[in-house]
Amino acid sequence: MAELYIDGRWVSARAHGRREIRCPADGSLVAEVDEAGPEDTADAIDAAHRAFHEGPWRDTSARERGDLLLRLADLLARDTDAVARMESLDTGKRLVESAYDVADVVSVFRHYGRVADDDPGRMVDTGNPGVVSRIVHEPIGVCGLVTPWNYPLLQTSWKVAPCLAAGNTFVLKPSELTPHSAVHLMRLLEEAGLPAGVGNLVLGAGREAGALLAEDPRVDLVSFTGSLATGKGLMAAAAGTVKKVALELGGKNPNIVFADADLETALDYALTAVFLHSGQVCSAGARLLVEESIHDEFVDALVERAQRIRLGGPFDDRAETGPLTSAQHRDKVEAYVAAGLAEGAVLRCGGARPTDPALADGFYYLPTILDACTTGMSVTQDESFGPVLTVETFTSEDEAVATANDSIYGLAGAVWTQDAGKGQRVAARLRMGTVWINDYHPYVPQAEWGGYKQSGTGRELGRAGLEEYRETKHVWQNISPAPQHWFSV
Ligand code: NAD
Repeated sequence: MAELYIDGRWVSARAHGRREIRCPADGSLVAEVDEAGPEDTADAIDAAHRAFHEGPWRDTSARERGDLLLRLADLLARDTDAVARMESLDTGKRLVESAYDVADVVSVFRHYGRVADDDPGRMVDTGNPGVVSRIVHEPIGVCGLVTPWNYPLLQTSWKVAPCLAAGNTFVLKPSELTPHSAVHLMRLLEEAGLPAGVGNLVLGAGREAGALLAEDPRVDLVSFTGSLATGKGLMAAAAGTVKKVALELGGKNPNIVFADADLETALDYALTAVFLHSGQVCSAGARLLVEESIHDEFVDALVERAQRIRLGGPFDDRAETGPLTSAQHRDKVEAYVAAGLAEGAVLRCGGARPTDPALADGFYYLPTILDACTTGMSVTQDESFGPVLTVETFTSEDEAVATANDSIYGLAGAVWTQDAGKGQRVAARLRMGTVWINDYHPYVPQAEWGGYKQSGTGRELGRAGLEEYRETKHVWQNISPAPQHWFSV
C-alpha cells in the first residue's frame, strides 16, 4: 500500500492517489499502486538533497559504492524469476524476453560496480614547480531520473548504476505504466545497504510526479529516456536552472539492405529488427531501405514471414511477440498506419488487430508492412513505436545514405552487404549513434549508446565510464605562495 520510497522509508502518496496497473496482454488487473503528486516529488528531492550535502554518501569511497552495486547485482540475479515476471505483467512482453532483460540489468550493475573506482583523476604538468595542479572528478549532486515503459528496469539500470557509482543521489520516476520492477529495485538497494535518502522513488504520471525534477533548483542533473516531445519539454524546463541534461529520445532507424547482402540472413534479421517486442524498441529497424533490384523478391519473402509471426501473452510458450503497451498506444499506431495509407503507402500485410478471440482483451496489432513509401511521407519520418515496417528503395550507395540520413532522428541503423568496404563506407556516413554492419540490435554495457540529431543529447551513458554523472574539477595549489609584487609596494 505504500510504494513511494523517500528518505529510506516506504510511504504513501500524500494526496493518496492510486493507479491501476493492467497487463497489456489481457487487460487484467496486476495491482494498484501509489500515484505521487508534486508534493511527494518535492519530499523526495529534499531527501536526496540532504543525503548528498549532509549525509556520508558523498564521502564514501568509490570502491564502497562499487561494492554496493556488485551486491545489488547479486541480489537481482537471485530474484531473476520474480523480476522477469513483474516486467512481463507490466509490459505484456514474453517472459523469456523479460528474463534476458534482467540478465542485462545484472550485467549493467556488475559493470558499474567494477569500474566505479577506475578513474583517480590526473596530474597536470604546468611547468611551474611551485604549483600542484590536478584534475579530479566529483559527483554532480542530485539527479532526477525519468524512464519509459518499454524496457523498464533496463532503462533504469543505465541511469541508477552510473549515478550511484559516481557518488550522486537520485529521485527515480519510472513510467506510470510499468512501476513494479522499480519498486523491487529500491527494496534490493535497501537490502544492499544504500543509506537513507540516497535513492528515492516516486511513482505516477509525468506531469504530476515527474515535471518538478526538471524545474527544482535542488536537482543538478535530469536524465531522461522517452519520447522526443517530452524530452524537448524537459530540456526547456531544465534550462530555467541550467541543469545538466541527458536525453535518450526516439528513433526512426533505417535498415539498409544491398543486393549483394547474404539475403537469407538479412531477411531474418529485418524481421527481428522491427517486430521484436512489437516494435516498441527505440532502435527498432522500422524503416527498410532495400536496393531496387531485389525489392520484389525480398519484400515478398518478408511479407510471407511477417504474416506467420505468432502473437500472444507473456506466458504463452508459442508466442513470438506480444501486445502494445496500452489501448492509447495502439490507437496511435492505427492512426499512423492510416496516415501512411492516405499518403499512398501500399499495405502488404497487417494493418489491423488480430481476429483471434483469445487475443481480444489485449492491445495487439498485427505485424504490418507498408510498401511503396518515400522519404517525404509521415510514416517514414515519424516514429510509430509499433510493429510497422515502411519500405523504400534505392539504386546507389549515395542514394541509400542520403535517404537514410533524411530524418530528424539519428539513433541507430544497419547496413547489410558482403562488400566489407561498402559496409564501412556506409557506416561512416550514417549520422547515427549506433550502426550495425550485417547485424541488428546487439549492444554491450561497455559500449557507448546515444543519439545524433534529435535522438538525444548523445551523451547519456558514456557506458565505458561515468562521465555523464560527474563534474570535472581542476584543483590548482600554489605550494610556495609568496607576494607577487605585481604592483609596486
Ligand atoms: P514518454 O515521453 O511518454 O514518457 C517517458 C517518461 O517521461 C515516463 O516516465 C513519463 O511519465 C515521463 N514524463 C512524461 N511527461 C513528463 C513531464 N512533463 N515531466 C517529467 N516526466 C514526464 O515516452 P514513453 O512513451 O514512455 O517511451 C517511448 C519513447 O521512448 C519512444 O519515443 C522511444 O523511442 C523512447 N525511447 C528511447 C530510448 C533510447 O535509448 N533512445 C530507449 C527507450 C525508449
